[in-house]
Amino acid sequence: MFAQKRINPCRPGYGASCSFCCGSHNYILSPEQIEEIFENRYPAGSLKLMAMHPEESTDQKLVREGMQCPHVGISPSEPGIVCCLSYMNEDKPPAFKSFFNGTCKNFYCTAWNELSERQILFAAELMGDWYYYSLLINCIDVLAELCSDYEKPRDIPTDILKELKVELVKKLNEDDLI
Ligand code: SF4
Ligand code: SF4
Repeated sequence: MFAQKRINPCRPGYGASCSFCCGSHNYILSPEQIEEIFENRYPAGSLKLMAMHPEESTDQKLVREGMQCPHVGISPSEPGIVCCLSYMNEDKPPAFKSFFNGTCKNFYCTAWNELSERQILFAAELMGDWYYYSLLINCIDVLAELCSDYEKPRDIPTDILKELKVELVKKLNEDDLI
């Protein structure tokens, strides 16, 4: 069922992308600071970071029990798009390979299961980034309400969008999102 989805919620286009389940938001840092970490990981991605297990971390976490995988990053070939820097690397250490094949390659979040293609594209077009897009598709009720209240993302007034972003960050910090 998931494989038949035509739109990939992890990379839906419109400059949006998501690595939320890999722990892209599990930092006590601003979006800009996290993005800098992701960009700086790229040159080391295939060497130093490869030795790290996905359940390890590099920075202080927002939620101690949550993932903060050190393989999440941004490649210079796709500026602003988060991804798994080690996805294609065949030389993963055994423990990493086992986790990758057993968990990473088989995980589908609620967005895959519950969001319609219109809802995914609506969120992608509205946010066009990795930070707020990821938060929005992981707040199913909020996104569903937006999609029923507005026909197109461009119909949402600027002040409502601003409030929405504040609400999403509040949910990240206060609710059990991670
Ligand atoms: S949270 Fe869902 S959409 Fe985001 S990276 Fe994980 S599986 Fe993909
Ligand atoms: S190894 Fe890649 S797919 Fe697995 S949790 Fe880390 S970033 Fe995500």
